[in-house]
Amino acid sequence: MTTPIRTVMSPGRYVQGKGAIDRLGEFVSQIGSAPLIVADDVVWGFAGEQVSASFAAAGLRVERVAFGRFATASAVDALVEKIRATHADVIIGVGGGSTIDSAKAAGFLAGIRWVSVPTVASTDAPTSALSVIYTDEGEFVEYRFFPRNPDLVLIDTQIVANAPVEFLIAGVGDALATWLEARATAAAHATTMAGGLPTQTGTALAKLSWDVIWENALPALDAVRDNLVTPALEKLVEANTLLSGLGFESGGLAAAHAIHNGLTAAPQTHGLTHGQKVNIGSLTQLVLEGAPRAEVEDFIEFTTLVGLPTTLTEIGLSVDDEKELRAIATASTLPGETIHNMPFVVTADDVLDALKSIERLSRSVRLARGLPAPVMYVQKH
Ligand SMILES: [Zn+2]
Repeated sequence: MTTPIRTVMSPGRYVQGKGAIDRLGEFVSQIGSAPLIVADDVVWGFAGEQVSASFAAAGLRVERVAFGRFATASAVDALVEKIRATHADVIIGVGGGSTIDSAKAAGFLAGIRWVSVPTVASTDAPTSALSVIYTDEGEFVEYRFFPRNPDLVLIDTQIVANAPVEFLIAGVGDALATWLEARATAAAHATTMAGGLPTQTGTALAKLSWDVIWENALPALDAVRDNLVTPALEKLVEANTLLSGLGFESGGLAAAHAIHNGLTAAPQTHGLTHGQKVNIGSLTQLVLEGAPRAEVEDFIEFTTLVGLPTTLTEIGLSVDDEKELRAIATASTLPGETIHNMPFVVTADDVLDALKSIERLSRSVRLARGLPAPVMYVQKH
């Protein structure tokens, strides 16, 4: 049996600010001398000039490789080849979660260092020492764990403010789950993604993330609708990225992310963001916990105001989709899933009933609180 420990993992350095990308070269030059940048064409279109200028100022070469859509095993392997061919000693993922997860996984496999430069605050993946690998269709395959986090995470809040607000909304959905899952993991004395028991540090950062989001999310989202960087946005970006990242990794995942992983098995949900699916997982977790009524109702109200789904309808499903819902429930309770970090036993039948229950529950809360009724999600092609 492995000796039980408590542990916290974190990136070597976290940098955030309006225009921070202009200093990327300066910070990367402290880590390596032969960088390889991974960025898709859209990201390179709006960030390439600034990144290139900052690298030139730091005396670094600008070697960039394009990227596809998902962090797949073959995408990672192709990056490893590129690292070897260019003799890179540090890989920099610039973009969204998939780009960054691929860069991390490739850096680890190639034995070099890695840096995350998220251009949106849509997930809490950039700070962590793990990558999530998907199929070409976007179905969850596996978590890959690394012995260390990125040496640097740099996020430019002006770039976040320039991006469509949907990314930030997704980030709120992902980050709100962090506290719900960390408190469940702590109550269960279960193992975190960092490979030990939760520390007070990890659990407290998860709670801080939750508090900062409730205080700042709505004004920050409005600021981004006008491409503005305000103090509320700075706080929300830190909560979504750093606090939630440390909080989920060293505080623990539980039912919400397991249900998210189950949802990726349903073709109807393809095209939805990670955070949208996680929010359904969070609400379902609250139901499974038998959480106090006020907590459940406030969660539904707040996340509806944020713009996140709180019903099956909004993720393209209905209570009559028995086959799909059962497949989701089964996938979310597979052995090794984080749902088994809950402080009580959760079966596929439990998840199935809880998932179905959120439809009527959210509709009635939204009606009572004067919020709009859900609109059916139809997958875009
Ligand atoms: Zn997540």
